[in-house]
Amino acid sequence: MSQAFPPARLDWSSGQPVSADYGDVYFSRESGLDETRHVFIEHNQLPQRFAALAPEQLFSIGETGFGTGLNFLVAWQCFLQHAPASARLSFVSTEKHPLTAADLVQAQAMWPELAAQAAALQQQYDAMAPGWHRFVLENGRVILTLLIGDVLETLPQLEARIDAWFLDGFAPAKNPEMWQPALFQQLARLSHRGTTLATFTSAGIVRRGLEEAGFGIEKVAGHGKKRDMTRGQLQQPPHTAWRAPWYALPQQTVGERSAVVIGAGIAGASVARSLASRGWQVTVLDRHPLAAQEASGNPQGVLYTKLSPHFTPLTQLVLSGYGYTLRTLSQLLPEDGVQWRRCGVLQLAGDAAEEKRQQGLATAGLSPHILRRVDAAEASALAGVELAQGGLYFEQGGWLNPPSLVNTLLDHPNITLRLGDAVTELAQNPADGGWVAMGSGGPLAIGSIAVVATANDTMQFDPTYYLPVKRIRGQVTELAATADSKALQTVLCGEGYIAPARQGRHCLGATFKFEYEDLAANDAEHAENLAMLADMAPRLYQALGGDDIGPAQCQGRAALRCTSPDYLPMVGAVVDRDAFLDCYQPLARDASLKLSAEAPLIKGLYVSTAHGSRGMVTAPLAGEIIASLLNGEPAPLPSSIMDAVNPSRFLVRDLIRQKHRD
Ligand code: SAM
Repeated sequence: MSQAFPPARLDWSSGQPVSADYGDVYFSRESGLDETRHVFIEHNQLPQRFAALAPEQLFSIGETGFGTGLNFLVAWQCFLQHAPASARLSFVSTEKHPLTAADLVQAQAMWPELAAQAAALQQQYDAMAPGWHRFVLENGRVILTLLIGDVLETLPQLEARIDAWFLDGFAPAKNPEMWQPALFQQLARLSHRGTTLATFTSAGIVRRGLEEAGFGIEKVAGHGKKRDMTRGQLQQPPHTAWRAPWYALPQQTVGERSAVVIGAGIAGASVARSLASRGWQVTVLDRHPLAAQEASGNPQGVLYTKLSPHFTPLTQLVLSGYGYTLRTLSQLLPEDGVQWRRCGVLQLAGDAAEEKRQQGLATAGLSPHILRRVDAAEASALAGVELAQGGLYFEQGGWLNPPSLVNTLLDHPNITLRLGDAVTELAQNPADGGWVAMGSGGPLAIGSIAVVATANDTMQFDPTYYLPVKRIRGQVTELAATADSKALQTVLCGEGYIAPARQGRHCLGATFKFEYEDLAANDAEHAENLAMLADMAPRLYQALGGDDIGPAQCQGRAALRCTSPDYLPMVGAVVDRDAFLDCYQPLARDASLKLSAEAPLIKGLYVSTAHGSRGMVTAPLAGEIIASLLNGEPAPLPSSIMDAVNPSRFLVRDLIRQKHRD
């Protein structure tokens, strides 16, 4: 992803949405709804194909041009009407210029019969950042993956198997940049024999392009006054281009859909929830008597993160994760000021380097509803306390109580919690490949797959011992709120953070200590947190007692974050280390070799770890990554980011750096 495109500019003067940029309508003036049903639904034979789905089967639709979401809402409604109750729908749509939330609401108000689906989507749809965004709808039965960016950039990054295409995206004459051979080739790459497509246009350039890409094409009667439209079916799947096999996504099939998840922090709870909402039976194990007792146990975590104006892999991951966590919260947790609060986050400009980064971000093309620059006066007004500097304001952000989210995620009829027993060994049953989590007194749980979500304890299990996790101790300080400090309205961030009062207390922190692991909170680090606050917001520091705050007033807790050498999480399938090194040893001689041997995966073993201090932002989406891999769904992130979080990346890097020799 290289840039952010501006949101759609709509002209409503005719009472219908018309694109001011392309000079074309979003849907037919006469009846958008009927045209969608005729062109996209009927000509992909969706009612019949939905009705013929087997229980639990997934149907995958791909679309170019999400626009107002009309096609999506109609397909979703049709799916509910025709598909068996346990079948599932995945809808992947690309959009270069997303509608603002206000325009989306206005457009969708035109179709009262779609009100139920529209309301559910609107509850989660907000200003869309560039990148990929996962929406979980109908309690997990309908999954929308919205790829915000140019289709010619996003589709090559998609890993999916699409059953039916909706080719929308303004008339070829008005939008010739989109209807390119490169687009048709991507459609074919993502299709299988039998994948259908339908499009409102019958332009020769589209028909010929699709045919050249391997689709059989037919011109059929269009809707209303439109004479023709096009429908087609893939005849000949293209040869697939080489993809590094060491990062290839697993095509694993399991019989019984049961999982053992070790770890009841945010990583484990998120995977468990994503699997449970897809009908899996999940047992979550943790050695503590309660969930969220380690790094997910702080009273207030901040929903924000430092972004780079260069849209690095970390920034792309974090933008997708941030949106996904906010959507999860808005669906599952009341915003009551105890569990979470969408109060906005102010990232204060510190030194010159930080100032420059903030300027870069503010001009990177992101919607002001995602982030915008504010001066000291506006920052002070937003924060409710006087601040000496301005910064970036993240209006959608806020704080949450991590244990509330973890416990809510775990509260699902398909999840069994087994707390208070440590897993001492994770073993695979040679007979059926299933997994057994053993405790000191014998087996604790079995499942056809296992997920290790134990942060730093990933090293404790034989199959995952080699994953390079790194501990970073962090201590937060809690202070009683005062009448003046209660004026704080937003989270403030700089070197550290402080959140508005929750239940009469503020949480501030957190320290970063690589050198020791003691879990008792200590006075020296409380003093560090206070110094951070005094520097970032001197007035607020005074309001809380200033230099009179003594150790006795500071409560707090320490925990060990878990990170990786490149500070990205490790999420995905686990390989057999020794077999992997053997298999790809030639890379040590020549890193550009296009080897083809499949990666030696340990069947049914997955990991979600090393979320660092951003677990609330990255771990919920990591749950979707693993659940998507296990259910044959499109990956929720571009393949470059899937590679960037692949747990095997350190083995590959070490091979290339010749750290592992024969
Ligand atoms: N399917 C939409 C609906 O149900 O409302 C209508 C789509 S509208 C006719 C075409 C959409 O394609 C617009 O939202 C436009 O921004 C998008 N689009 C145009 N060119 C694109 C490109 N190169 N990549 C991604 N989206 C594009």
